[in-house]
Amino acid sequence: MNSTDIKEHAPINWVSTSMFIVTTLVAVTLVPWYGITYGYDTSAWVAFVALTFLTGMSITGGYHRLWSHNAYEAHPILRVWYALWGAAALENTILDWCSGHRVHHRHCDDLEKDPYSAKRGLWFSHMGWMLREYPSGRVDFKNVKNLMKDPIVMWQYKYYVPITLAMNIGVPVGLGLIFDNVWAMVLLAGFLRIVVAHHITFFINSIAHKWGSQPYTDENTARDNAFFAVLTHGEGYHNYHHIFQNDYRNGIRWFHWDPTKWFIKACSWVGLTSNLKTVPDYKIQRAVVKMQFKRAQEKLAKAECPVTAAKWTALLEHEYEKYHAMLNQWAEHQSDRLDETRKNLKERWENTALHQNIIDIEEQLMEQSQRLKTLMADYKAALA
Ligand SMILES: [Zn+2]
Ligand SMILES: [Zn+2]
Repeated sequence: MNSTDIKEHAPINWVSTSMFIVTTLVAVTLVPWYGITYGYDTSAWVAFVALTFLTGMSITGGYHRLWSHNAYEAHPILRVWYALWGAAALENTILDWCSGHRVHHRHCDDLEKDPYSAKRGLWFSHMGWMLREYPSGRVDFKNVKNLMKDPIVMWQYKYYVPITLAMNIGVPVGLGLIFDNVWAMVLLAGFLRIVVAHHITFFINSIAHKWGSQPYTDENTARDNAFFAVLTHGEGYHNYHHIFQNDYRNGIRWFHWDPTKWFIKACSWVGLTSNLKTVPDYKIQRAVVKMQFKRAQEKLAKAECPVTAAKWTALLEHEYEKYHAMLNQWAEHQSDRLDETRKNLKERWENTALHQNIIDIEEQLMEQSQRLKTLMADYKAALA
C-alpha cells in the first residue's frame, strides 16, 4: 500500500462527514423549500451576506494571515473577534487549522505530507481530505508552538464546542427573535451560510491550485486567479501567497480584489493591527523576471530554427545576468543604507557617495528592466 492509499483507506471521520452531509442536505432541500413556501425577507438575506463575510474574513484574516503566517500583529479585541467568527465557520480550531496549513506550505503538493495535496485531485484537495482520519491519527501541534502561547487561541481550543454552538445556533436564533423570523434566519444565516463559507475556503485548496497563472513561481501548483479572488475574500492570488507567505497582502496591486488586505490595513489606522509585513518590491520583481526568463528559455529550447534560438538565448542570458548582478548590487547598497540609518547619521547620509550610488543604480536598474522587457517581446516576435 503506498502513501496515497493510506489516506484513501483510512477510517472515515464521521464527525466532519456527518456535519458536511447534514449542512449540505439542509442547504439543498429545506432552504429552497422554505423559500418557495414562505419566502425570505430582506433581514434574513442581509444576515446571510454579513455572516458569510464575517466568518470568511475571520478565516482569511485571522486563521490564515494572522495565526498561520504571522503576517501582522493584532490587538486582543480583534483576536477574540476572529476566534469567535472563525469558530462560526466550522473549520476546526485555530490550532488544528494552522497546524495543517503550515504543513501544506512546508510540503506543498507532496502526496504524503501535504494534508490537501492538489496532486491528489480536485475532489481530494477540495473536501475529500477532511472526510477521513489522518493516517497518523491526531494532528501534531509541534509546528504551532508559538500559537500555544496566545491565551485567546488556547481559550478557543478549550471551549471550541460551546463557542461553535453559540455562534452557529445562538446568533441565528437571536437574530431571528429580533426580526421575528427564527426559521428563516436559522436556514439562511445558519445552514446556507455555513455551506457557502465552507466552499469559499475549500476553493483556495482546490481551484487556487488548479486554474490560473503562475507569475511568481512554478515550483508548486499554486495559481493566481483574479476571479476566485473575488469569491475568496482576496485569497485567489495564491501563487503570490505561496512564494511570499508572510506578506499580509495576497493581491499586491491596489486594484487587486483583496478585502482581507483592506480590512487589515484599515484596522491598523485605529490600532487594532500593527507590524504589517510586506515583501520589498525588488524581491517581487526578481521573482517575476526569473519566471519570465525561465519561460523564455523553455520556449527557445523548442524553437524550430536553432540558429535564431541560440542567438536569442545568448542575448537573454546576458541581459538577465546583468539584471541580476545589478539587483544584487542595489540590495547590498540598501542594506548598507539601513545600517547607516540605524546609526542615526541622516545628515551625513544625504551627502554620502552611497546615497548617490543608490540613485544611480536605481536608474540603471530601471533601464535594465526595460531592456529585458523589450528583449522578451522581441524574441517572441522573432520566433513567430
Ligand atoms: Zn497560507
Ligand atoms: Zn495553497
